[in-house]
Amino acid sequence: MLRWALLLGLSLHPQTLRAQNFICSDLELQHAAEVARDRSANFWSGHPLPGPWYQPCPIEWSGSQRSGQGVTRYRLAEGEVFGWQMTVLGDRNTVLRDVLPHEVDHAVRASLVRRALPRWLDEGCASVAESAPSHAQLRSQLRLSRRRILTSETIDAMSYPTSSTSTQQLYAEGFSLVEYLLLQRPRSDLLRVQQAERPLSQSLPAVYQVELPQLLADWTNWEQSRLRVGTTCDCVGCPWHHPLPQAGPVVSERPVLTVWSASWCGPCLAFQQDLQRHPGFRQTLEKRFRIVMRDIDQQPRESGQSGILSVPVFLADTRRIEGYQGPEWLLRELGLTMTPPTPVHAPPSS
Ligand SMILES: [Zn+2]
Repeated sequence: MLRWALLLGLSLHPQTLRAQNFICSDLELQHAAEVARDRSANFWSGHPLPGPWYQPCPIEWSGSQRSGQGVTRYRLAEGEVFGWQMTVLGDRNTVLRDVLPHEVDHAVRASLVRRALPRWLDEGCASVAESAPSHAQLRSQLRLSRRRILTSETIDAMSYPTSSTSTQQLYAEGFSLVEYLLLQRPRSDLLRVQQAERPLSQSLPAVYQVELPQLLADWTNWEQSRLRVGTTCDCVGCPWHHPLPQAGPVVSERPVLTVWSASWCGPCLAFQQDLQRHPGFRQTLEKRFRIVMRDIDQQPRESGQSGILSVPVFLADTRRIEGYQGPEWLLRELGLTMTPPTPVHAPPSS
């Protein structure tokens, strides 16, 4: 009863589930973005970002058939980052595997660095967060081209090349040079280079203690020798995929669990809050289903076609479940049993 009173008091909650740092109408993407945020922050700085962003970053997803791409916009003023807006394009798997981790990494490093970066460095670092197949593709790209975009003259360039071929080349070279730098010194040093308030052509030689032309020559030699070995993450010691286990989001063709809800519906809000509060509940559902949230006020035609007269309604396979009475109740109705949440760190081996 108390719970009802509390829920009714919050009935103006927006229809999208507002997590700490991202807002997306697709819960799987929203959750993946939170995971990617922690992962990138841990990768670059050794710990999560000190707290949630002042305002969450809205994510817009368009599931077009085009190959994955994304844009992250933000404003930098007086050392602060604000006005987040993230757009990701592509099929769900590509977005979860590559586009979202890449874009979230841009946002995480913007928070850590708080200054605009030369494009090769920003894109090279963000590409580290992508999947092993994407890394292999970036490495193969360098095999196709003998020309180098990155030179002592272009290392500080803040804009993208004008042609799309050269832009692709910039991504591939940027990723390769970032990989090389990550193998030379701790990650915190590459972060320090990004944070330094002077041009890269000065901060890079200072931190890596080698003149810029020599550093670029060493990188080219390393790249040549690596191409003889191979381009997959296991054979070249990728800083992200090796020796770390591949812990990216598990992408599979799970059946859809459609959840019809409304912003004014207390039990709908209770369901969304339970997803946030009980990792075991969320993981049990996500292991079995891909959760898709629908709002009867936002999608009136579709809700009419599905015969939704009250909310919440859960549609999965051939099941139709009306109402919500808590995590155990819903799992029982769906024929599932709660699995304990996966620990963030592997248990110590004894
Ligand atoms: Zn990017």
